[in-house]
Amino acid sequence: MITALLLVLQLGTPVYDRVILGGHVMDPASKLDAVRNIGLSGGRIAVITTEAISGRDTVDAGGLVVAPGFIDLHAAGQSPETYRFYALDGVTTALELELGTSDVAAWYRDRSAGEVVNYGVSIGHIKVRMAVMHDSGTRMPVSDGAYRAASPAQITEIAQRIEIGLSEGAVDIGAGFPYTPAATREELLAVFRVAARTKTPIHVHIRPGVAGLKEALALAAETNAPLHVVHINSAGLAETPAMLEMINDARARGSDVTTEAYPYDAGMTEIQSATIQDVYKNAPDERLAELEWARTGERLNRASFERYTRIGGPVVVHTNTEAMVAVAIQSPLTIIASDAYWQDGTGHPRTTGAFARVLGRYFRSPSPEGRGGQGVRTLMEAIRKMTLMPAQRLEARVPAMRQKGRLRVGADADITIFDSATVMDRSTYREPSLPPVGIQHVMVNGVSVVANGQAVEGVAPGKAVRGVAPR
Ligand SMILES: [Zn+2]
Repeated sequence: MITALLLVLQLGTPVYDRVILGGHVMDPASKLDAVRNIGLSGGRIAVITTEAISGRDTVDAGGLVVAPGFIDLHAAGQSPETYRFYALDGVTTALELELGTSDVAAWYRDRSAGEVVNYGVSIGHIKVRMAVMHDSGTRMPVSDGAYRAASPAQITEIAQRIEIGLSEGAVDIGAGFPYTPAATREELLAVFRVAARTKTPIHVHIRPGVAGLKEALALAAETNAPLHVVHINSAGLAETPAMLEMINDARARGSDVTTEAYPYDAGMTEIQSATIQDVYKNAPDERLAELEWARTGERLNRASFERYTRIGGPVVVHTNTEAMVAVAIQSPLTIIASDAYWQDGTGHPRTTGAFARVLGRYFRSPSPEGRGGQGVRTLMEAIRKMTLMPAQRLEARVPAMRQKGRLRVGADADITIFDSATVMDRSTYREPSLPPVGIQHVMVNGVSVVANGQAVEGVAPGKAVRGVAPR
């Protein structure tokens, strides 16, 4: 500090903590799209300039894109292992907003020493319902949390616990209707009323297709709750275009509705969960081949489905097409969110590659493998979907998000630096932990968590992202 001050006095120009020199700075908020030098001080951006600047540490960004750090609104893994994966994919803020937690205070307390990336959680209707209904499942409801209707007193308790979670700083409210099939419309209305009263977005895994979206839009319209529809690609499948149209129309009518997508044509979830059991338990045997046991890659049949249902674990769900994924990713409505899924050492490749995959496969022109058909959008648009759009979605409830998702003086120094010519995911269903290539440097609050494409070990600059207590 004293050294820095002396240097300033001696030279008349400030010396920054760190400088990022000669990068192609792309900031969707200001539309800045030019080579600049960036100086960082105290974990924030102190200057963005064409002038020569110096710092105690220099990152050469020549030939690379310098973007705001990616913000993932749907990062289901929230462990040191998954935070490291996210950082390698360019993510600087990883939020778990669908499943969430039933104990917000404990969730943040567990991470208060800092993590690799910024972190945050929703108060989750699924998790709260599991607690109130005394469900026997661990990760997802498997008994009364899924299949038993709540009494009026239990509905009141569910709503109260959600309000408590918000008062403890939850980022928003999460819900997943297919995981809680016994939740009545009355119960869901009670949850949406809390969202409306506290002006908190409710992030919903809707029931499948147009009918599922109609239900969620009706709940939002009836209560005036802000609604965020998670993973429109897997909720929509072949109906994705119609559903994006419905969201567009709702927004045009003034509704606060947003959505997100991830760039893969297969999903993943727990085989014991209601969302799998309700669809496949009584399905024709041949449909079971849509399911792949994540640990081995085998497609399931009746016998293996029943065997693995008893064991429990992640299952890959092959029900979408690449064309529908492209529609979802390229829509101007969609925020990019990974829906990262990691369980006991394995998981979905989106956990480690979702953002690099969008940059490498959906936006780098020409469109690879004949994908798309809606026109390939610009790199700036891709970055906007990963940074500014998710930040803006949360700003009303989480004012701290106004300092994220942008490269401007005073913003948090959450920065992702990548090679737009080579960036590409590498992870697969068989090798889901392979990090992408081309994500060169990732900084969280000014501290490198990825340097020269490698994870930096032993750093934990990520801070809690919290909502403000509702009035
Ligand atoms: Zn989901």
